[in-house]
This record gives sequence, C-alpha cells and structure tokens, in this order.
Amino acid sequence: MIYLDYAATTPVDQRVLDVMMPYFRENYGNPSSVHRLGQKAETAIDSAREKVAAVLHCKPEEIIFTSCGTESDNFALRGAMMARRNASGETWILTSKTEHHAVSKTAEQLEKEYGFQLEWLDINKHGGVSPESLSKAVCNNTVLASLMLANNEIGTINLIADLAKIAKANHILFHTDAVQAAAYLDVNVEKLGVDLMSLGGHKFYGPKGVGALYVRKGTKLLPHMTGGGQENRQRAGTQNVPYIVGFAEALRLTAEEREARTAHVKPLRDQIIGRVLEEIPDSQLTGHPENRLPNHASFVFKDVDGNLLLQMLDSAGFACSSGSACKTGNPEPSEVITSLGHSLDWALGSLRITLGVDSTPEHVDSFLKALPELVEKVRKLHN
Ligand SMILES: *Cc1c(COP(=O)(O)O)cnc(C)c1O
Repeated sequence: MIYLDYAATTPVDQRVLDVMMPYFRENYGNPSSVHRLGQKAETAIDSAREKVAAVLHCKPEEIIFTSCGTESDNFALRGAMMARRNASGETWILTSKTEHHAVSKTAEQLEKEYGFQLEWLDINKHGGVSPESLSKAVCNNTVLASLMLANNEIGTINLIADLAKIAKANHILFHTDAVQAAAYLDVNVEKLGVDLMSLGGHKFYGPKGVGALYVRKGTKLLPHMTGGGQENRQRAGTQNVPYIVGFAEALRLTAEEREARTAHVKPLRDQIIGRVLEEIPDSQLTGHPENRLPNHASFVFKDVDGNLLLQMLDSAGFACSSGSACKTGNPEPSEVITSLGHSLDWALGSLRITLGVDSTPEHVDSFLKALPELVEKVRKLHN
C-alpha cells in the first residue's frame, strides 16, 4: 500500500514513540499526586509544556493540553464565546464555510442551541478569506473570529498575520485552527498575532488523541471540562502523560526538521499537480496554486464519482482521500469544495493527495501512472 493521505493522519515517528514508552509502565504516576512518582509525571508534563512553548514562542502557562485538535477548536470557540457573553453581553462569531467541521459545526451549535449570532465570511475562489472580508464583517458586538491557518481539504494558506491584525484593531479575539498547518508552517504565535491557536498531535507524526490549545495570557475561557484543577484550572481531567510527552517531542522535531521535510515533499507535490492537470482531461486544481501547503495536492474531476475513484485507487494500492477523512463514504459533496463555487458535476469528483516523510519519487511515479486510467474507468461507469 502506498500511503498518500498524510493530511488525514501520520504514523507516529519512532523517536516520538521512544520518549513516550517509559510513561506507560515505569513512570505511570498521576501528575497531581504528591509522591515522587507523581512528581516525575508532573516534571514530564512541565517539560513538554516548555518544549511546546518554545516552538510557539509563548509562555508555558499559555498552553493547555487537550484530547485532540477537535477539542481544542471546541474549547476555543465555546469557551471564549461563553466567557465574553457572561462578561460583556457580546454575541457575534465570525468564521468561514471552509473551516474544518470542528470549528464550523461548533459555530453552528453556538448559534442554534446557545443563542449566539454567526456570520459566514466571504471566501475567495481559492478558499481563502481576505482581510477585507473580515474588516467589513466586524461589528461592535463581535467576540471572536476563527479562521484556519491552512485548509485540510484544499491546502490553501490564509494570511493569518494580516487577519489577526484586523481583529486586534477591532478589539475582537482571533482564533486559528493550525491543526493541519503545523506540520509545515511556522506556528509562532507572536508572528501570527493570534489569541487562540489549536494543534493536534497526529497530523505531525505524534499520537492520535492529544492536542493543545494556545491561550494568550488574559484571554478568558469558560472551562468545558469541570472537575480537578489541572491545566491551570482551565481543563479538568488527569493528563494523558505519555501522549503529552509524545505530542511535545513530535512538535519539536517538526519545527527542527521543517525545512528538510518541506524540501522533500514540495517537488513531489509539484510533479503531481503538473502532471495531473496536463494528463487528465476536465481536471482542476482546488485551493491556491502557490500559497498552499507544500505536501498538498487537491483536484476536482468532472463527472467522476469521487468515492468510487477512492475505492479503485485503494484496490490498486493507493491510499488517498476525497476532502476530509470524516466525509469518506458520504455521497454529499464537501461543503468546502461547493463553497469554492464548483457545480455538483465537478464537486462530487474531488481527490486529495498528501505527501509525507516516507513518500518517495517511486510512489509518486506509480501513482501518476495509475491515476489517468482509473479516472477514465470511473467516468465510463458514471455515464
Ligand atoms: C485533523 C484536523 C482537525 C481535527 O483534529 P483531531 O485531532 O483529529 O480531532 C481539526 N482541524 C483541522 C484543520 C484538521 O486538519
């Protein structure tokens, strides 16, 4: 099997697994316990927090460890909206239709079930949000804007530093979902200028089921997990020590090896984009042609059943994706793809190929040899 689905998840780096292992059976203490085993676990969490803070250029106490990227997004949105409404009565949230469901469904729930007001920002044809569309949507009742650093389905990178500047000038909070971006982009919160930022371990060779939320000092969030005083009294529950240790090491390695990893995947990605558009009739790139994640190629093909194409690719030995992993098996077109303005005959035929550390030129070559025929085959079955 040739794995071309690194945006869905990545294998755990052996070096990450090695630092995690002692925290399952040797140093298994509860970080809240007073005895030495507990202190050892607490020290491990502290140094993990410092490692993460060093990559993000923030203070360790501004990091909250969570159970996944989805939880970080939920906590940022729900926590900030609830806290600000309680404090000042403000109720507006601004986000976009190209966000991951962890953000968009949370925003919808805040509107439908909790009485907040939601505005979807205009997106451009590459699925990005322009600073102008944010400025024109801000009103004096706005609490928060949430816009992702890089899109998981179409790879487009948003101009977060510019967007966050507008938020700051208007005294609104700015959250960015950097879960997909962190594998390749700088997640320095000072440069980005964000108040809240979500990360998830399994998108950068860390374990699944662990994430982090950066919370700028002074930003109030209403806790959604109540109980003990863990995570600076902001997120109750005994910390998942081995996973947090693994998350921090994976992020450290990602920052350290960012340039090398980028240099490895980018030419392969460019080869895929170039050859697919050249060799497959009625094909279009989705997302921004240049300003996109270096490992990310995504397309729509006219009159192609995307799910059938994925199954055929799977039978031929290639693991790819159509939009986000959660939508596989669902015949509805992806909201991200339709929000780009594609009609149904194009939108149902989306394909995402994402590369990673184990991708090779041979993988790409055999994929590019197989794809045109498979697309043709699916088209014939379709019509
Ligand atoms: C994967 C992903 C998430 C969800 O993260 P989990 O850790 O899988 O819950 C959220 N946002 C984006 C952009 C993602 O790519």
